[in-house]
Formats: sequence, structure tokens, C-alpha cells
Amino acid sequence: MPVKKKLFSGFGSAAVHAGHEQDPRYAHLVPIYASSTYVFDNAAQGMKRFSGEEEGYIYSRWGNPTSTEAEEKIAALETFKLDMEVKGILHASGMAAIATLMLSTLKAGDKILTHYSLYGGTEELVHLVLPGLGITAIIADLRRLEEVEDTIKTDPSIRMMYLETPANPTMQCVDIQELSSIAKRHNLIVACDNTFATPYLQQPFKYGVDYVVHSTTKFLNGHGTAIGGILLGKDVEKMNTKVTKTHRLLGGNANPFDSFLLINGMKTLELRMDRHCSNATEVASYLEAHPLVARTNYAGLSSHPDHAVARKQMKQPGAMLSFELKGGLDAGIHLMDNLQMCIRTVSLGTCDTLLSHPASMTHYGVPKEQREQYGITDGLIRMNVGIENVQDIIGDLEQALGEVGS
Ligand code: PLP
Repeated sequence: MPVKKKLFSGFGSAAVHAGHEQDPRYAHLVPIYASSTYVFDNAAQGMKRFSGEEEGYIYSRWGNPTSTEAEEKIAALETFKLDMEVKGILHASGMAAIATLMLSTLKAGDKILTHYSLYGGTEELVHLVLPGLGITAIIADLRRLEEVEDTIKTDPSIRMMYLETPANPTMQCVDIQELSSIAKRHNLIVACDNTFATPYLQQPFKYGVDYVVHSTTKFLNGHGTAIGGILLGKDVEKMNTKVTKTHRLLGGNANPFDSFLLINGMKTLELRMDRHCSNATEVASYLEAHPLVARTNYAGLSSHPDHAVARKQMKQPGAMLSFELKGGLDAGIHLMDNLQMCIRTVSLGTCDTLLSHPASMTHYGVPKEQREQYGITDGLIRMNVGIENVQDIIGDLEQALGEVGS
């Protein structure tokens, strides 16, 4: 049996041990079960497995022992010290998990109420794919709680509230507890993307959401070695039936090698996040005081508009920040070109510091007026503050900013 979460008084212990089951052949770590299918002792057993009378694996798109350990560990962390059970289903990517969520809970005619600051892939799913199935979205500023409730009252087809907090690129935070209460008053499903925060810093189930999604590609894996995602839900019965069925039929299952990397990455989640957060706090203060920087967006800064919300629901403000260079597009390109230690790339959640310049990279093809609506100005730089020595991170920024200013 997997080790039960109640044995752990500290999050770090759960991150190391939760979900682990002693291997029948005494391997210390969970083996990578690289097997597409599982055998039956006889036809009667096959029948029992298919009918659900006997628990057991059948086919790896339906479930895999290595992936099960990752699912149980993340479920234990998302409910750490909460008196509740949730069920997690691991996916091949964060997007696959989000797609399963939408397709197993919504139907044609339903609407999703969400905000501007969404991960680009989620935004495209909502705007380009779901409308073809009759599911549309209403975009609102979810920080204006009264307006949110008025919108819901006037449109009974709103079925889901979808949150992402903190969110790209301005690290906007929304109040999970307040929004969940509003949603519950109107019988809406609430889902929250917890990728940027991780369960160590924020537990959305505590504040009343029904579903949590993650791109496990990021801080949960922690080393940038695999793409993955998870969908967790507190209606375990629904997770085991409709959601599991949808996941199995869409085919976005995780593979056991990626699950193995994820399990081992998560063991250091607490240590890494503590370091990420203390480094990010120092880097944010450095940037905020820099003469070439017009604005620094970090939920840990008292100047951030959502600082109070972040303090209310997050243990620490996370590793992600963005800042706007006064010199615009040229300054952004110049900074990127002069980095020596920090890495020029997209994505996040790795031990090393990563910088991206959306205007010349991810949002290069998006018209300027459109991207500026989302806060993506010409000089905006997004940063995943890594766990290196913070003086080295600041030193690299200092010399690169020196080149920008020269
Ligand atoms: N959610 C957030 C907040 C993300 O940043 C990402 C990817 O960057 C995703 C979801 C999608 O995850 P994946 O790339 O694993 O499909």
C-alpha cells in the first residue's frame, strides 16, 4: 500500500515519501514499468479486471504503476494537512490535462469565465479549439469581484470559472477563496492552474476549488527533463468515472520514464522552492531599484497590485517575475544577447535562471496592440529565477544591463 499522508508532519517528508509503495522485488525506487500491457493469470482474472471487480493494471494508456506513484504523490501534496482526498490523473503534458478537464466537465452551450492572464496554450485552446465544440469563453478581470458576480448572474450558460494564479506575464494574482465562494453560490465548477505556485506555496483545494491542473513540466519536475501534466479533482467518484474515461479515450497518458523523472524531481520541491523564492525576492528588489527598469512585476513586492492577495493565499511569492526595460524592444534584445550565465529560453521551473523576451520570441507574431493588452510590452522580460548563488544571478543581470545602458 502507498504510504499514507497522515504519517508526515512536514511537507518535505511527504514530498520524499508520499505515494511510494514497496517494490515486490525490493528495488529502492519505483521501477520504470516500460510495459504497454499487463498479463492475466487466466481468463477469469481478465474478466474481473475488465469488470472492475478486481483492481489491477490492464493497459498503460489506462494506467501504469510508475505513473500511479507520481499521481499519488502530487495528490498527497495538494492536500497536505487538509482533511480531504483528491484523485490525480497524470497526463502527457499540462495541455493534455487541461483538455481532459474541459472535455469531461463541459458540453456544447456552456461558457467558461476566465481572465486575460492565461498561459498562451490555454488561451488558444479556449479561443481556437473549444468554440468548434460549442464551448465559448467570457474574459473578465477576475479581481473585480462584484462585476464577476454580476456577469455570472446575467448569463446562466456560464458553467466553469477557470483561474491561473500567479499568471503570465505580469504575475497577476486572483483571490481563489473569494472567487470560489462566488462560483459556489451559482453552482459553477472552479478549476485552478497551480503551475507557477506548486502545492508547496499554494493549495487551491483549501480555498474551495473543484479541480487543480499543473504543467508538471515546470517546478514539480524541477529540472526541465520531461513534459507532463496532471489533473486533480475532489469529486473522486467523478474522477474515477467520467474524467478517467475521457482521459483514456483522448489518449494523453503520461509515459513511465517521464513519471520516474517527475517522482525524483518532486523529492526536492520544498528545498528548491525555498531557494527559488529567496533568490527571486532579492532579484526583484535589485531590479526594482535599477535605473533602466521601468517596472518590476513580482507578487512579493509591496508595489505589486496583487501583493495582498498573494500574501493571503501563498506561503511565499514564487520564482517567477517579469520586468519592463525603459529602452523597449532594442533594450530587450540587447539584454538577452549579453547574458553570460543565465539562459535565454522559454519555459520555467528549472534550477537554472531562464530569461525570455516575449516581444522578440513567444509573441513575435502577435500584433503589438494585441500583446500590449496582455501586458506584453516591447521591453518586457520574463524571468524564472533559479537556485544558483543569487549574487551570480544579480551579477549577470548587472553586467548585461550595463551593456544595455552603454
Ligand atoms: N499552464 C501553465 C501556467 C504553463 O506555463 C504551461 C506551459 O508553459 C502550461 C499550463 C502547459 O503545460 P505543458 O507545456 O506541459 O503542456
